Amino acid sequence: MTTTDHSALDSVSLDLLTLLDQADPAVASLLRSEAARQAGTLELIASENHVSPAVMHAMGTWMTNKYAEGYPGKRYYGGCEHHDTAEDLARDRAKELFGCGFANVQPHCGANANIAAFMAMCAPGDRILSLPIKSGGHLSHGLKPNFSGTFYEIHDYDVDPDTERLDYDAIAARAREVKPRMIICGFSAYPRAIDFAAFRAIADDVGALLMADIAHIAGLVAGGVHASPFPHADVVTTTTHKTLRGPRGGLILCDDEDIAKKVDRKVFPGSQGGPLMHAITAKAVAFGEALQPDFKQYAADVVANAQALADALVSHGYRLCTGGTDNHLLLVDLQPRDADLTGADAEKWLEAAGIITNKNGIPNDPRPPMVTSGLRLGTAALTTRGLGAADMVAIAALLDRVMESRGDAGVAASVRADVQAMCDAHPLPH
Ligand SMILES: *Cc1c(COP(=O)(O)O)cnc(C)c1O
Repeated sequence: MTTTDHSALDSVSLDLLTLLDQADPAVASLLRSEAARQAGTLELIASENHVSPAVMHAMGTWMTNKYAEGYPGKRYYGGCEHHDTAEDLARDRAKELFGCGFANVQPHCGANANIAAFMAMCAPGDRILSLPIKSGGHLSHGLKPNFSGTFYEIHDYDVDPDTERLDYDAIAARAREVKPRMIICGFSAYPRAIDFAAFRAIADDVGALLMADIAHIAGLVAGGVHASPFPHADVVTTTTHKTLRGPRGGLILCDDEDIAKKVDRKVFPGSQGGPLMHAITAKAVAFGEALQPDFKQYAADVVANAQALADALVSHGYRLCTGGTDNHLLLVDLQPRDADLTGADAEKWLEAAGIITNKNGIPNDPRPPMVTSGLRLGTAALTTRGLGAADMVAIAALLDRVMESRGDAGVAASVRADVQAMCDAHPLPH
C-alpha cells in the first residue's frame, strides 16, 4: 500500500480519513502516512502488535467524553451507567481470561499498573528484589530515575553469566541475603519461560510477596502457551497492548481480597484520576477476542514463529542469548556475526529496508544502552498478519542481507522491495 492506495484499510478507517480530510487535513495526512508505514513494513518490535479494527475503533467513541472516577456502582460523577457496564465487562472478561478473582482495568499503561501495585504491596523505602533493565528487566522495576528506584530500596538479582538464563538457586541465595519485602519476576527482554512456582518458593522461603509483571507474555499466558502466574503470584500486572493485542493500557490482577481492595485504592485515588473509559471499552473488546478459541492458535503460532526465526538466524551465524527462545521474543547477539556491528547500526539499516526492530542491550553488554550489541526481535505482530514459519526463514535471510552489506543503500532498496511484497501478501487486520 502506498500513501495513495488505501484499498486494504477497513471501512471505518476510510470513513475516518474522509472526515479528517475536511476537519483536519494535517492530521489526515499523517494518519495516511502512518497507516501506509504500518502496512508496508515488517514489525518485529517484540512489544508491539496490530490490533483488530474492532479494538482500534472501540477506542474512538463516545466513551472518551466521560469522567468516571471511582469504580462501577461507586462513581464520583453522574451519568456513568454505561461506563459501569463497560468496565464490568472488561473486568469480568479479564478474570475469565487469566483465571483469577479480581481485575483492575483502569491503569493507563503498564508502568502505571506497576506504580499502583508497588503502592498496594509496599511502603516507601521497602526493599524490593528485581532483575535490572540491563539484564532484561523493565525500568519500572527499579531504575534509579523511575518512581520505583526513587521511592523504594531496590536490590538486583541477575541472569547466569554463562547461560544467560535465570538461575533459581542463585536468586534464592540473593533473596536470603537481601530479605526483600517483595520479589518481582516478569521481564522485557527475557526469551525463556518463567517458572512462577520456583519464584513462589523463593518468596516463601524469605517471607516475601511475589509480583509477576507479565506485560510481554500476557497473550501467551491467555493463549495457554506459557504457564500462568496464578496461583503463585500475590499480584500480577501487565500491559494490554503487547502479545495480548489490545489497546495501549495496563491491567492488575490478583486473587486475594485484601490485596484487591488495596490495588483499587492505589489505582484510584492513589495514582490516577479519571479512567480512560474509551481505552477500557477497547480492553473489553480485546479480552473478548482473546477468549475466542482462535486466540489459542494465535499464541501457539507466535511461539512457533519465534522458534523458526531463531533457528534461521542461527543458521546465518548469529548467536541468540540463552541459545534460543521459549516465547515470542529473541535477543540476538550481533557480535559473533560481525564484531563491529552495533544494535544501533542494525536498527537503522533494517529500518531503511522496511524491517522495524529495536536495539537492545544483551547480558554483560560492553556497549552503552544507546548503542548496544544486540537486537530484540518479536513475532507477535508478524503472526497477526498471518506470516508463518517459511516467512520467518525468508525474513532471517533478509535481515542477514542487510547486515552483510552493512547498510548498503542498493541492498536496502532490494530488500525493501521483498518486504513490500510480503506485506502486500499479508495485509493488516481489516
Ligand atoms: C512494556 C513493559 C511495561 C510497561 O508498559 P508501558 O505501557 O510502556 O508503561 C512494564 N513492565 C514490563 C515487563 C514491560 O515489558
